[in-house]
Amino acid sequence: MSNACHTIWDCPIYRSVQARFLEASKRIGLDPNVVNRLQMPDRSVIITIPVRMDSGEVRIYTGYRVQHNDVLGPFKGGMRYHPEVTVGETAALAMLMTWKSALVGLPLGGAKGGIACDPHAFSRSELQRLTRRFTSELVNVIGPERDIPAPDMGTDEQVMAWMMDTYSQQKGYAVPGVVTGKPLVIGGSHGRREATGRGVVYAIVKALETMDLTIGPDTTVAIQGFGNVGANVAATVEELGGRVVAASTSQGGVYSPAGLKLSELERCYREGRSFEDYGEGDAVSNEELLEVPCDVLVPAAVAGTIHKGNADRIQCRIVAEGANGPTTIEGDRILNDRGVVLIPDILANSGGVIVSYFEWIQDLQNFFWDMDEIFMQLKRIITRAFDEVYRVSQEEKVSMRTAALIKGVRKVSEAMLARGLYP
Ligand code: NAD
Repeated sequence: MSNACHTIWDCPIYRSVQARFLEASKRIGLDPNVVNRLQMPDRSVIITIPVRMDSGEVRIYTGYRVQHNDVLGPFKGGMRYHPEVTVGETAALAMLMTWKSALVGLPLGGAKGGIACDPHAFSRSELQRLTRRFTSELVNVIGPERDIPAPDMGTDEQVMAWMMDTYSQQKGYAVPGVVTGKPLVIGGSHGRREATGRGVVYAIVKALETMDLTIGPDTTVAIQGFGNVGANVAATVEELGGRVVAASTSQGGVYSPAGLKLSELERCYREGRSFEDYGEGDAVSNEELLEVPCDVLVPAAVAGTIHKGNADRIQCRIVAEGANGPTTIEGDRILNDRGVVLIPDILANSGGVIVSYFEWIQDLQNFFWDMDEIFMQLKRIITRAFDEVYRVSQEEKVSMRTAALIKGVRKVSEAMLARGLYP
């Protein structure tokens, strides 16, 4: 995807999210008026953000917040800082958030946002000024009852802390519930950092169960992307006794059939070294990583990495989509024909929004839970969602992706019809 993709419909990921939505709508005979409404987001905000750089120069960045649907509750979704953020990509990811929240049964809607920028190119103070100006432009658009941002690619707890503080300064009092994924000390939740990766592994364990398998030393896992999601997938796989055989960052990766040590990968990542310098195993590119022999492949970086050009060379039994939209429609079709079980993004990576929901309700109640409670509830919700999606996929003889969409879209549509059209 390139920055040239400025309109929603020009954007490949938007078109593929739409096509999947239309397919699910057709299968469940959705009311055409509801289809038309859900095809477009409720609101898209495009902001130009002036930022004073440390050199004194003022640069202008473009930021977005797209709110797709809030029929079930406040809009909810991450903020991404990445050079290739566009309104189309943001709208596609906002729509996915609507289905994801509905699928796992949360009283939340779908939104997404971000800024087209390279967050690694800023100093800390430049990043802070960018984030604060962006948040202050959004002060009437977000809020704990309205729209609750969270971290995504290129943003983290610190960015969420600046967002929370900027919003609170403008309101005149502390509003912790305006964002999730904040540091613990200002109302963050135990387990939010680990939630998405841990949830991915809970879903993998369920998928293995459907094959009469359990996770153990012979279960081999390859992970593309070693950020928040990928690193926590690796940690949970290691905790449950599985074997991570390949991992990568944007700079490249490493493959070792004997297994990689999490502590060593973390050290390389912290020091900004490529995994190609891991010391053991074979250096692999990001593309090669997808094709290494393994039981489970977890794409946990960017969209569109599994496509018609490589899907027939992928050697795993299970693909668990840690990232949003990592498989194209053609990629899906090839994997499905080859009998690869694909746990779709809106199910596999829903742990993030599930624990964000826990964080939001803890903030609203000023009552905080411990880590065991969080992980127990996370496991309960994601396991139940997996079972329901699996059952629909078996009954309707459709892929897990279509089954997940059927469930999410049906719930949103039922809520829209129950509420009726205003005025
Ligand atoms: P992150 O910024 O923490 O990490 C991203 C990782 O991907 C880094 O290791 C980076 O080096 C790598 N990467 C970047 N470009 C790449 C490329 N072209 N090829 C291979 N690797 C590349 O981001 P994150 O929060 O871990 O998010 C990763 C994905 O998971 C995104 O698609 C995001 O939307 C999705 N997701 C994140 C969360 C969450 O809670 N953080 C929740 C749901 C879904």
